[in-house]
Amino acid sequence: MEKIILDGNVVAQNIKDQLKGRIESLQNNGITPCLATILVGNNPSSETYVRMKGNACKKLGINSIRVHLPEETTTIELLETIRELNEDPTVHGILLQHPVPAQIDERMAFEAIDIRKDVDGVTSAGYGQTALGFGNYPSCTPAAIMEIIKYYKISLEGKHAVVVGRSPILGKPVSALLLNENATVTTCHSKTANLPDILKQADIVVAAVGKPKFIQGSWLKEGSVVLDAGYNKGNIGDIDYESCYEAAGAITPVPGGVGPVTISMLLKHTVDSAENNLF
Ligand code: NAP
Repeated sequence: MEKIILDGNVVAQNIKDQLKGRIESLQNNGITPCLATILVGNNPSSETYVRMKGNACKKLGINSIRVHLPEETTTIELLETIRELNEDPTVHGILLQHPVPAQIDERMAFEAIDIRKDVDGVTSAGYGQTALGFGNYPSCTPAAIMEIIKYYKISLEGKHAVVVGRSPILGKPVSALLLNENATVTTCHSKTANLPDILKQADIVVAAVGKPKFIQGSWLKEGSVVLDAGYNKGNIGDIDYESCYEAAGAITPVPGGVGPVTISMLLKHTVDSAENNLF
């Protein structure tokens, strides 16, 4: 059977191509979509991610506001920034870059984002809507994984999908999205027993572990579809690519897999929000 490389750059470009006309129409009506990103502190990876998101906005004609707060910012100060952005009618999407410094109550900060501007699905209301199968903006990485599956016409109905990871912005929402598309879903985590045995039964594998090269090809069922959301230092995913490539029927590379599609989904959600223009 032919092996398929699930090319995230192709999927990402396809999404961006579809956005161009929509952004032009908005601009003709005096609206420029605008994404506000908030970065707290000086985490170099977070700085890179925020810069990449800003650059992607610029290339497509989306405004981006970058708010960079100092490392010692308090929860109250961050909440005040979020309130200002919530109230700013020119801002359509708000993204609080994760992780924030330890003194900040991250959950409280996420919850403060207006649901209408929660373009990364981080509020509990956004997550709830995703799980129930309605609402506008699922978290961008789960949405990207679903977009890759859709683009490559991978069928989910009746398939066993195993998600490794259960974080609020990745493992849990992608499990919900796969379930909504009629996959049978197993969500694994650090306390899961016999992970390799469970993966052996998987038709679809989503790696969202945060550990470089964690998932081994010998754990996979021959011909399975492997989507690696992992992004670790040195451009390394959460799967051991060489061995997983041998076993998989279709596989996302890192870089060039889920990452670029995640950014495109963020742009798409910002444009969607500008079109809804409820502010
Ligand atoms: P996270 O919050 O650290 O969550 C990691 C999850 O993996 C947790 O649920 C944890 O289980 C589970 N886990 C840890 N060790 C495990 C083990 N030995 N066996 C099974 N499960 C284990 O990470 P995250 O934010 O979801 O991110 C996951 C990965 O995706 C990272 O590599 C991150 O860089 C990447 N990421 C990529 C994008 C993108 O755009 N491509 C966006 C976001 C994140 P417990 O719940 O039991 O602790």
